[in-house]
Amino acid sequence: MKVIIVGGVAGGASAATRLRRLSEDAEIILFEKGEYISYANCGLPYYLGGTITDRERLIVTKAELLRDRFAVDVRVRSEVTAINRTTKTVTVHDLSVNRTYEESYDKLLLSPGAYPKVFDLPGVKSEGIFTLRTLTDTYIIDDYIRLKDPKSVVIVGGGFIGVEMAENLKERGLDVTLVEFMDQVLTFLDKEMAIPIHQNLRENGVHLRLGVGVKSFESLQCRINGPDVSKPLTLTLSDDSLLTADLVILCTGVVPDSSLASKAGLSTGVGGCIQVDDTFHTSDTDIFAVGDAICVTSMISGKEVLIPLAGPANKQGREAAEIMLAGKASVHSGKSARFVQGSSVVKVFDLLAASTGFSEKQLQREGIEYKKTYIHPTSHSSYYPNATNMSMKMLFAADGKILGAQAVGYEGVDKRIDVVATVLRLGGTVYDLEDLELCYAPPVSSAKDPVNMLGFTAANILKGDMKVIYPEQVDGLIASEAYFLDVSTRDEAAMGSIPGAVSIPLDELRDRLSEIPTGTPVYVFCRVGLRGYIASRMLNQHGINAYNVSGGYRTYNVLRQEAKAIKQDIAGNGKTSAETVVVTAPVPVHVAMPAKTLSVDACGLSCPGPIMKVAGGMKDLMPGEILHITATDPAFASDINVWCERTGNTLLAIKRDKGVYTVDLQKGLAAGTDNASNPVSSCVPGTSPASSGNDKTMVIFSGDLDKALAAFIIANGAASMGRKVTLFFTFWGLNILRKSTHVPVKKNLVEKMFGFMMPRGAGKLGLSRMNMGGMGTKMIKGIMKQKNVQSLEELIQAAMASGVRVLACQMSMDLMGIKEEELLDGVELAGVATFLGSAELSDTNLFI
Ligand code: FAD
Repeated sequence: MKVIIVGGVAGGASAATRLRRLSEDAEIILFEKGEYISYANCGLPYYLGGTITDRERLIVTKAELLRDRFAVDVRVRSEVTAINRTTKTVTVHDLSVNRTYEESYDKLLLSPGAYPKVFDLPGVKSEGIFTLRTLTDTYIIDDYIRLKDPKSVVIVGGGFIGVEMAENLKERGLDVTLVEFMDQVLTFLDKEMAIPIHQNLRENGVHLRLGVGVKSFESLQCRINGPDVSKPLTLTLSDDSLLTADLVILCTGVVPDSSLASKAGLSTGVGGCIQVDDTFHTSDTDIFAVGDAICVTSMISGKEVLIPLAGPANKQGREAAEIMLAGKASVHSGKSARFVQGSSVVKVFDLLAASTGFSEKQLQREGIEYKKTYIHPTSHSSYYPNATNMSMKMLFAADGKILGAQAVGYEGVDKRIDVVATVLRLGGTVYDLEDLELCYAPPVSSAKDPVNMLGFTAANILKGDMKVIYPEQVDGLIASEAYFLDVSTRDEAAMGSIPGAVSIPLDELRDRLSEIPTGTPVYVFCRVGLRGYIASRMLNQHGINAYNVSGGYRTYNVLRQEAKAIKQDIAGNGKTSAETVVVTAPVPVHVAMPAKTLSVDACGLSCPGPIMKVAGGMKDLMPGEILHITATDPAFASDINVWCERTGNTLLAIKRDKGVYTVDLQKGLAAGTDNASNPVSSCVPGTSPASSGNDKTMVIFSGDLDKALAAFIIANGAASMGRKVTLFFTFWGLNILRKSTHVPVKKNLVEKMFGFMMPRGAGKLGLSRMNMGGMGTKMIKGIMKQKNVQSLEELIQAAMASGVRVLACQMSMDLMGIKEEELLDGVELAGVATFLGSAELSDTNLFI
């Protein structure tokens, strides 16, 4: 049999070698119009970035090897220009000698790939604008960079290749801006999963312009008609903003290269691809096609789709060779490399993003019903050094069938998605993931692997063990004044929570169940979902209709943070704002580095672990001393910023390397920073800093809601400025500090009556004016919620978390029959001397 193969890279080279392994008799001719065969397309960006330095290494199999070892007649620089189906010949143009000839075939295999999509925009053909497909393209770009020494590049398109090019050209020292028409890069991921990639790109200095396209290109050469001027390109974006660059790489997708096939009258399909059946036969039984040029059957929707990836192309070439020799019978029923699920992975600096199956967006587009779960596990046992965090999302059907999964993290992401991909391919369900027995030892995994965890959480949802809502539903529920319960620790809640949420740390929840409303749904959340799940189980078993916010505050917050970051991207016209950039070099501080440095390892700990470690470590330090902490929790970079702001400590530097954050903190405020002239000895929550003469004291006599709010707003403000604040509650003011639940304590009749008549805690206070039998209070609370003003309960918690001293006047308590057990945790009982002692060190004393 004489077989002709068109295209000598992924699909074509695989087919050629498989054919030879199966048949010593076949005559195999491989035509490749380029100079090279079987090269590593996927490695091209890494050559341009300088990771792969040797050009030779990009050639996977040399033409000589294919000739010598596999007896394949390799003809490079030979373009097949026509297929003559009646004569069963192809017309070949030998580009090296500019000669055209005919070659006959018994069977023909087409693997011509896909070419870069280039939109017909004004100026798109200007000098300095390139696409990347082949080894030759790579060398052309490389030579241009060497010769012209461009300082800046705009990458147009944020798919795999665009993102890889952004990373690699940044590594090469160029100033990189990535423009993407969608509001996210890597659209195989759902947006909330792509956001960590955005953050990572920004942190690594890549300027992002998302949600805008390029309208036109203009080169300075066109505008200034002089030979010696530099030639930066000007790009006009769809929002009419301008970008300039010395180099542009277009990475706006690929188009199946079916021109040869369609000219020969072969059927074409989706997106102009070559139409084939499951045995890779085109509409002509002697002509086969594989790779990026064909459409495949989606394993999820069953529809014809384009999925241009190397894995399927290689396997299709191999299978097509078998079928060509042995006929269709060689295909195992239901098994064909034409069924594709789209498993893919990409590295973006130190992050990996992987996915298999459909994303949520695709499921929605196809109208496929689904459920989903989010988890944020660690790459291996958290107690073993260097565990890093990952975020995972899985989509599944009501019967448990897996529809897709995505993961983003530093390590072990590909392995987890590969496992899910395998189960998906074999038609498995989330219940199979629960039982999968995977390799486990602490350095590489956990006894309950993240894949098992995906199965557990998904099965919990399907079995009704865990009712969930999703982050995108939260804002709507806030607007309808739903009850949100944050079961994170106080430290965590103080750093950010769903607006209006009530904070009850999980470990206190069982004792405070009576504070939770029973007649309304309760939406529980923690940072990443696990404690929220435990809390929702507890509440449900106590008859409370609780839902867990899947993925927790982290998943909710990621979307909100991104909205801010995008505004900054636009404000900076793609220039990354300092606020969103993790500081990669120490922030200059004007203090001599003190001798004592304490090192704390919080790697592998999920929140609240790292922040608790920071708070604990800071307690052991004196003002000016340094805490050096390593952590892998991805939220740590933003958490620590907020924590420092809130506690009046100084963030000296954050660095990240392969998912490990290294952070230096200085206790107190460094000289040169705001308020440094009022040095604070310590603002670690829960500690009492030494006075510096500008403390604030308040006597809270009133039990009115508005006055209590004013007191705590001032207290929190002063604490955030690093002032030591002491609040002394006396008479009616004591009611503010009462727990909202009934606490069984011994009281005489008068005390009982008093206790009954007085408001029990911050939630029960009324307004000093316009209370209108409680209507006014309800209205003001509603307005506060709408305007995201913290409730009194939250203000009290925040104040205590930032070290505000809350004193209850012992004498007034005795008079009013209020017992210590009835007061909020953390309230100190004190006499007037304690208060006066504080007041003497204070420059402001208020009586409210
Ligand atoms: P190709 O490998 O593109 O080979 C087609 C060949 O046919 C070309 O060399 C072309 O010159 C030749 N040809 C076309 N027409 C003719 C003709 N008429 N006569 C003679 N020769 C002809 N995929 C992944 O899965 N992971 C990755 O990380 C990844 N990274 C990539 C990075 C880059 C920069 C690029 C460009 C692609 C990447 N891909 C990746 C995609 C992957 O390379 C393709 O899916 C795969 O190579 C497709 O194989 P193919 O055989 O269909 O086409």
